[in-house]
Amino acid sequence: MISFARRRWGQSLPWPLRQLAHTFFRAYFNMSGCIFCKIVAGTAKADIVHRDEQVTAFHDRHPAAPTHILIVPNRHIDSLNALAEADAPLVGHMFIVAKQLAAQAGIEEGGYRLIINTGTHGGQTVFHLHLHLMGGQAMRAMG
Ligand code: 5GP
Ligand code: ZN
Repeated sequence: MISFARRRWGQSLPWPLRQLAHTFFRAYFNMSGCIFCKIVAGTAKADIVHRDEQVTAFHDRHPAAPTHILIVPNRHIDSLNALAEADAPLVGHMFIVAKQLAAQAGIEEGGYRLIINTGTHGGQTVFHLHLHLMGGQAMRAMG
């Protein structure tokens, strides 16, 4: 629906207006439609385990492991594909928070898995960048 509206109205507009419309659509639907933006903003409930100026972390609603935490940037970023070079410190911070939360959850020694699903083929269902921290049981080897 969103992409349909974008295509339908977007193509009939001159370039500067098209850019403006694109920016508007992104901002509007991100604010009103993104569940992780709502959790970060505090307008949707989540079991939050960490919050700082860059990221928020909370328990996954449908845990796939005894410990399953999502670490998300506070700023909306669709996926890894939308990352810029300037986001490198943010991504580094997500991993540092992940290892701190692993220690906090007591799964540091046993080990854990960090996953970032990207795009439809990668199994991404929520298009707000997030790092899965999963542990508390032995994971199947990937190879
Ligand atoms: P993805 O499949 O995009 O990599 O992961 C999205 C994850 O977000 C899934 O594991 C799903 O269970 C979780 N999730 C989706 N909606 C919500 C929600 O409203 N609250 C919480 N806590 N987790 C959610
Ligand atoms: Zn978002």
